[in-house]
Amino acid sequence: MHKAIVKQILFPLHEKIIGRKTLSFLKELEALQWESPERLEQLRFEKLRKLLVHARKNVPFYARRFADAGFDPEHMHSIDDFKILPPLTKADIRRNLEDLKWNACPGGLFRYNTGGSTGEPLIFYFDRRRQAYDAAARALTHRWWGVDIGDRELYLWGSPLEMKKQDRIKTLRDTLTNQVLISAFEISPQQVPAIFARMKKFNPKCIFGYPSTIDLFCRMALNQGLHLKNHEIQVVFSTAEVLYDHQRQSISDYFGGIPVVDGYGSREGGFISHECPEHTRHVMDPNYVLEIVNDGSAAEPGKEGEIVVTHLDAWGMPFIRYRTGDIARMGAGQCKCGRGFSSMSAVRGRATDFIITPDGRWQHALSIIYVVRDIEGVEEFKIFQHDVDDIQVLLRTDKDLYPADGNERIIAGFRKRMGPDVRVRIEMVTEIPKEASGKHRYVVSKVAQQGLK
Ligand SMILES: [Zn+2]
Repeated sequence: MHKAIVKQILFPLHEKIIGRKTLSFLKELEALQWESPERLEQLRFEKLRKLLVHARKNVPFYARRFADAGFDPEHMHSIDDFKILPPLTKADIRRNLEDLKWNACPGGLFRYNTGGSTGEPLIFYFDRRRQAYDAAARALTHRWWGVDIGDRELYLWGSPLEMKKQDRIKTLRDTLTNQVLISAFEISPQQVPAIFARMKKFNPKCIFGYPSTIDLFCRMALNQGLHLKNHEIQVVFSTAEVLYDHQRQSISDYFGGIPVVDGYGSREGGFISHECPEHTRHVMDPNYVLEIVNDGSAAEPGKEGEIVVTHLDAWGMPFIRYRTGDIARMGAGQCKCGRGFSSMSAVRGRATDFIITPDGRWQHALSIIYVVRDIEGVEEFKIFQHDVDDIQVLLRTDKDLYPADGNERIIAGFRKRMGPDVRVRIEMVTEIPKEASGKHRYVVSKVAQQGLK
């Protein structure tokens, strides 16, 4: 489909039919990105107060919660005032789902779900306004990298959930909006030539997806001698997982040195931050109040803590001080690009991307990921921490390359980092089971999950 037809006719028509104001919100964000931090703070305060007044009036869960905390949104003086409210946890959402909805929401509510970082499903609702703001934020940040509405976009998605419902409608809509989705839930060397051929034929301007999935595709394609030449792909947008440096490098190399850009968000949290051309991760300030919280209070500037977000445009089901379970720092100072949006560090890892050592240290999972990755012939792996001293490693290897002392090296490496008493069980497998969400996690620590509850 011709780009201009999509951009000027089909996309606006689609949004109008379903009642979304994506394009007017996009115009608003285009202007707001150049405003001063002070002006943005003022805007956030106004939006927050309106959201909270609405939540108290129309959403039973928050009416109760505000009353319990003695909080009155009508009398707020600054954004800080609402931080006396307890954060919203996934458990709160599970227990109070019906009471978290605004049943009279104009345009209706749309049900979504996610596997969540603990692997337990979370059900929640979006309204049209929130969908439109999330879509506008996404379109804005794509423009930062020269990709506009109507440009051909390829989704290399790890999730089987995407393809279940309304497959045919979605496929038609994707064609009309110049978006193609390749479901790569179970990516195997056998599938790679077909994915490669489809990618080449569609010739997208950008690729969007999970870094683990895209990285895996690139490495398998390279192994099979499948090189992309004369393609138009200008940028790869990484989402939903931590983008590791080695992935950024290998994906960039495969596509001929193009930028691989990190965005942070989640299905329930929305489109929270994205890298600008200066590689600063800007927070979508007009749409969020973002806090970094440590032990229940605001982390000191520059210190790490859990990301807690309030989505200022989620009125159908408000997320007020929602605990994401992700860890980051706030950034400091103005970005060279000139945008007024604040910034944050890379998300250091999901809660599940940490392991806890027998002496109680929370260690980034990369420390043990590197041990396994360093061994020749390892094609895929997954590490489970069942207890502080009990590690299980599933390994899929190329038997010709995997060294005779491979297992010993893994065990020695883990003991060096975690302590001499750690028990490491290594199992050779032909397939690594995926998580229900379709995301690939290298490390799943039941101990770390327990620690966050
Ligand atoms: Zn910037």
